[in-house]
Amino acid sequence: MSLAKKINHFFPLMLLTLAASIAATPTKAVEEVNVYSARQAFLIKPMLKAFTNETGIKVNIIFAKKGLIERIENEAKNTNADLFITPDIGPIYDIVNKGLTQAIESPVLEKNIPSQYRDPEGHWFGLTSRSRIIYTSKDRVKKGAIKTYEDLADPQWKGKICTRSGKHTYNLSLIASMIAVHGEADTEKWLKGVKANLARKPQGNDRAQVKAIKEGVCDIALGNSYYYGKMITNAKNPEQIAWAKSVNLLFPNQADRGAHMNVSGVVLIKYAKHKANAIKLIEFLSGPMAQYMYAQENFEFPVRPDTPRSSLINKYMGKFKPDTLSLTVIAANRSKASKLVDKVGFDN
Ligand code: FE
Repeated sequence: MSLAKKINHFFPLMLLTLAASIAATPTKAVEEVNVYSARQAFLIKPMLKAFTNETGIKVNIIFAKKGLIERIENEAKNTNADLFITPDIGPIYDIVNKGLTQAIESPVLEKNIPSQYRDPEGHWFGLTSRSRIIYTSKDRVKKGAIKTYEDLADPQWKGKICTRSGKHTYNLSLIASMIAVHGEADTEKWLKGVKANLARKPQGNDRAQVKAIKEGVCDIALGNSYYYGKMITNAKNPEQIAWAKSVNLLFPNQADRGAHMNVSGVVLIKYAKHKANAIKLIEFLSGPMAQYMYAQENFEFPVRPDTPRSSLINKYMGKFKPDTLSLTVIAANRSKASKLVDKVGFDN
């Protein structure tokens, strides 16, 4: 047999032997946890990577802006989801109400997350908080001219306000908080007033409203607080730095209830196949390292007390008074808020 023929003859045998020896070596099953996320994956990937580095547990992530709750519902017992992560209390409340979650008892989570940011029954946990603030044009709106969300309905701002859809989850939570404070009838009047002041039909995302201020389309916009940090540091899209530089940040209602707050949060799915790993991941995300990363990379407010905020946030946002209205109350008013948005034709 020539050498070439010998190699051709023996090589498959060698491979078989190698395969057999691998199979014979006892291997540990890969430890993993599956996350369905309605939060954009790039926002949470650094923390998930840090978790894998620390624990060796692999994190698989499926991201979709919409439809994940329905998917988990349809998959029922066969679902691969262990955890569901969302950027707002609304979807958290929806999935808990559908009975698709299970409670967690964890002294670590109770210690890391203040009670206002988690479900007393243990079905959901806030990981970061954020405020829905008002962005105003540096050139065209005097500082102090607007002090409250209520001021947005003042006719002096006719044609000056921009916002994304009233039906977007961030706005629904804000309107729900107005219902909790003022009741439905007065909130409807307020919403009509804001609608009458819009510069254009609601459209785009939060950053698009700041862009519209920069371009002179409007002078006042609603937007979440962390977007300021995301814009002012945006080396990839430097035009966003200019958008951010054109506005002042206004934390409303500082003389009374404080600025509206929301959370990004997480739930453990009822049929989670990797429950222990899933709880480990939530505990990690509420721990000092992940909370620090959330603050530094996403410009969100850490929920864990004593976690330093990013210095940039301190520079531009300083200290402010947050509304301490219960997130459960906000969530409970969201369907009423949604009906009001339709009733006043806010998005039309
Ligand atoms: Fe957001």
